[in-house]
Amino acid sequence: MMDGHAPGHGQHCAAQAETWRAPGTLPSRPAPSLLVMPTDTGARSARPSVLLLGRDQRVADHLGLAAAATARTCLVLFVLDEQILRLPTTGPNRVAFLLESLADLRASLRARGGELFVRRGDPAALALAAAHAVGARTIHLSADVTSVARRRHRALAERCAADGIELVAHAGVAVVDPDALHPSGGDHYRVFTPYWRAWTAAPRRQLAPPPDELCAPEGLDPGVLPDLAELDAGADPVGRHDFAPLGLAAPSPRRDTGGEGEAWRRLDAFAARGGLADYDAACDDLASDATARVAAALHFGCISPRQLEAWALEHADVDRVAGGVGAFVRQLCWRDFFLAVTRSFPAIGRADYRPRPVAWRQDPDELDAWKQGRTGVSLVDAAMRQLLDEGFVHNRARLVASSYLVKTLRHHWSEGAAHYLYWLSDADVASNSGNWQWMAGTGNDTRPNRVLNPERQAKRFDPDGTYRSRYLGPPPWATTH
Ligand SMILES: Cc1cc2nc3c(=O)[nH]c(=O)nc-3n(C[C@H](O)[C@H](O)[C@H](O)COP(=O)(O)OP(=O)(O)OC[C@H]3O[C@@H](n4cnc5c(N)ncnc54)[C@H](O)[C@@H]3O)c2cc1C
Repeated sequence: MMDGHAPGHGQHCAAQAETWRAPGTLPSRPAPSLLVMPTDTGARSARPSVLLLGRDQRVADHLGLAAAATARTCLVLFVLDEQILRLPTTGPNRVAFLLESLADLRASLRARGGELFVRRGDPAALALAAAHAVGARTIHLSADVTSVARRRHRALAERCAADGIELVAHAGVAVVDPDALHPSGGDHYRVFTPYWRAWTAAPRRQLAPPPDELCAPEGLDPGVLPDLAELDAGADPVGRHDFAPLGLAAPSPRRDTGGEGEAWRRLDAFAARGGLADYDAACDDLASDATARVAAALHFGCISPRQLEAWALEHADVDRVAGGVGAFVRQLCWRDFFLAVTRSFPAIGRADYRPRPVAWRQDPDELDAWKQGRTGVSLVDAAMRQLLDEGFVHNRARLVASSYLVKTLRHHWSEGAAHYLYWLSDADVASNSGNWQWMAGTGNDTRPNRVLNPERQAKRFDPDGTYRSRYLGPPPWATTH
């Protein structure tokens, strides 16, 4: 997929040797609305442009990159956000996946004559400094819905407004824009099925091809992309070495690798083993490798969800909503659903969406046993050990392990969600908190008292114990509860 386009080196790039410093604090102004669509992406502008990357690390179907590439030179910037790196829920698997995705993206940009500039610190300040360094009047980015992304967007919008720079936000984080579908009389769908109906009928945008040629500004240090150990130790891409160590745990030994190329390899392998055709029949079977395992690639935008939907539909025979393809596309709709819910309820990661009177319990030892996979409930323990071992958990096992924590042990969902966020490569505030709240009965489930019985779930989805043996060793398994 990534190699299918000729690299372009032919374009002459104007020298850009201005110093790239962080500007001082700027007076704050009212923030413009979050999603500002591009005014003109047709003609090649003489003015350089800046693209501030977020979780959109690909060259294909990247509306921001396509728009930024219409300028004669385009500075593509990724800022290792110091604030996000230091969140207690930022874990080693996700950071490692991010760094690998950035390395892959840098190679793809260079193959087209472009460059990935890497900095560490405050994205808004550094994006504005980049714009000033190259004389850009436009900064592009991808719109996102989480509270962190919106805060970042607002901070940048204020600075841009103060400096007369246009800030252009592009779609791409979802198949259907999180702000596109509204039920009559409400700002967002609270229940999945009506959302699914509206979603399937919603128009789709065209896919954007990757730019054939890019031209990076010259005379600026692109910055060294650190590996996980260097970043953890405090490395600065431009060599100042003044960041305190992060203190991340060691990554999971069998975690997935990031990157646009890797995501497509994974999908090709999934299709080749019949995963798409069999998806509805096999996706809940715990032992078989019957799901695509692309949630992390989607989270970091190594592929766009719109590309993934189009790819799946290309594999459909006649009936696009029946069978494996239909079931797979429905999962992408779940992802969009939680993004749309998060857009309307950005506190989804910290507050009950639908508060209910539950006598939540606190028991640090019990919580720790759940985290370590030592509850004595074999399917729950296997799920929790898969998490530590791979930075991934099968969806069915996530359901069972979360049900056990919130419904059986009655620990608040946020305890489980934080542990998942730290260890999952695909950790995503909208999908993670949305699913945790769904299971806790504080979210979008229409049956808030639903409990999954781990024994019955094991009998049904891991009848011969293959999945559990993989993470717990051969039976008999310890049963302490
Ligand atoms: C408690 C709990 C926490 C979860 N936390 C996350 C998370 O942090 N990040 C995350 O991406 N998913 C999360 N999920 C959803 C789901 O488990 C994963 O998306 C899925 O297991 C990823 O594996 P896959 O790529 O092989 O999925 P596939 O089965 O191949 O599905 C394809 C894609 O559809 C999307 N998808 C599938 N199921 C769901 C779902 N229930 N909700 C939202 N999107 C879905 C994912 O993007 C996934 O990659 C969570 C589910 C539960 C029950």
